[in-house]
Amino acid sequence: MKFVSTRARNEKKEYTAAEVIKQGLAPDGGLFVPTEIPALTAEDLDRLAGMTYPQRAAEIMGLYLTDYTAEELLNAANLAYGAPKFPENNPTPITKVGSLEILELWHGPTSAFKDMALQIMPHLLSMALEKTGETRDALILVATSGDTGKAALEGYADVPRVRIHVFYPTDGVSRIQKKQMATQQGSNVNVTAITGNFDDAQSGVKAIFADSEMAELLDKEGLFLSSANSINWGRLVPQVVYYISAYCDLMNAGRLNKGDLMDVVVPTGNFGNIFACCLAKRMGLPVGKMICASNQNNVLTDFINNGVYDRRRTFYQTVSPSMDILISSNLERLLWLVAGPEKCASYMEALAKDGVYTVDEQVLEAVQAEFAAYFCDEALTKNVLREFHENLFYLADTHTAVALSAAESYRRSLDEKRTVLVASTASPYKFSPAVLESLGKDVPEDGFEALRSLQKISGIPAPARLAALEQAEDRFTEVIAPQDMKSAVLAFARS
Ligand SMILES: *Cc1c(COP(=O)(O)O)cnc(C)c1O
Repeated sequence: MKFVSTRARNEKKEYTAAEVIKQGLAPDGGLFVPTEIPALTAEDLDRLAGMTYPQRAAEIMGLYLTDYTAEELLNAANLAYGAPKFPENNPTPITKVGSLEILELWHGPTSAFKDMALQIMPHLLSMALEKTGETRDALILVATSGDTGKAALEGYADVPRVRIHVFYPTDGVSRIQKKQMATQQGSNVNVTAITGNFDDAQSGVKAIFADSEMAELLDKEGLFLSSANSINWGRLVPQVVYYISAYCDLMNAGRLNKGDLMDVVVPTGNFGNIFACCLAKRMGLPVGKMICASNQNNVLTDFINNGVYDRRRTFYQTVSPSMDILISSNLERLLWLVAGPEKCASYMEALAKDGVYTVDEQVLEAVQAEFAAYFCDEALTKNVLREFHENLFYLADTHTAVALSAAESYRRSLDEKRTVLVASTASPYKFSPAVLESLGKDVPEDGFEALRSLQKISGIPAPARLAALEQAEDRFTEVIAPQDMKSAVLAFARS
């Protein structure tokens, strides 16, 4: 399997999976995409249904990562998804709540779904350095709206031949997320807060990647830049796995008949998670509609409904901060698939230049054939969260609540009964104050007090690692302006 850049127009250079994972972003600023999408047959699904999660992961990832051996992938998957990182029996349990199937993707070490990819990515990258004969070490730059940062730090901490520098918006993450990152252990990690929002952090990181002087300076230090954001293909492939795995689990449990369509609702920010589902569908998984759920930052809802992507709008800080994004990078991959390289490149140029683009009728129809979209303002998010707790005894986090709201709207639009799978992306304890507020309870000033209050109300213990953070010492407290990100990276590289 070979990969090309979404921005390659005439001469299309092809890359191996190892090169793609190593580089993260294509040299022309585009994203890597596979030249073909591998097929998954009904027999394949049957076979996968009889396997454990790590076995499924190795099989499915192997279809894309053809320069990795089956043994390498299985080894990596066992390390990533086995105990003690994830619960022994099933890393991605599905809970039936009312008529919805809720796929819980947050049972890993940092209590957010990002662990699903970031526990295995370091293994894939280490092997990629070997496979490509790379002599330099990798310096991973991450812009995070909260969850990616911690999950990446946790995945890469003390991994040989890798360093990692994480940037997050200082007021754009929760108290617990901040504490998770500030206390990160490991000799190869650095964390810097910036003034500004997530898009500022992401733009800053992208600018550093595009800076040739920076590449030269780092080269002198024996380093090259790599990415752990969902712009990296190595993040997406492990995410394809859990949609296929969920289908197998539902078949095995008799909650779905083989061949039945499954609609999937995904709380969306950078369009990575939902795009992974799109890949699974295009491989042949019987997925009906993919429902893109957004918070008040509803740029994707407008795009999917009207074909106009317009980032020139107010940026809201919401109770679902990991979805506070106005530039959803992975949408570029969908456009490339749907509209082809020429149009995709021109849309991206327009977005960079004018902050807006409009797709043509044909492209819009193709998008709407696969996707529906809903958004949810702050009041509705909190309401839905409370209703699910009060009526169905299910405690969701605020991001998942946005998806639950979209799932209900979508269900109301259907005239037949369908299996609707909702991706649940974080533990409610990761956002305890916002969850308490949604439930109409008092919100203690302190994030850890809030976590304890929430425990009392729900009767479900918080993940031990979150609770233990309170006692951990901060290592990283610096806050800088976005324009100083480059010098911060250089200082870290030279340290
Ligand atoms: C990252 C994140 C999302 C958004 O996922 P994308 O792949 O960026 O669309 C949603 N919920 C939570 C809890 C997240 O951490």
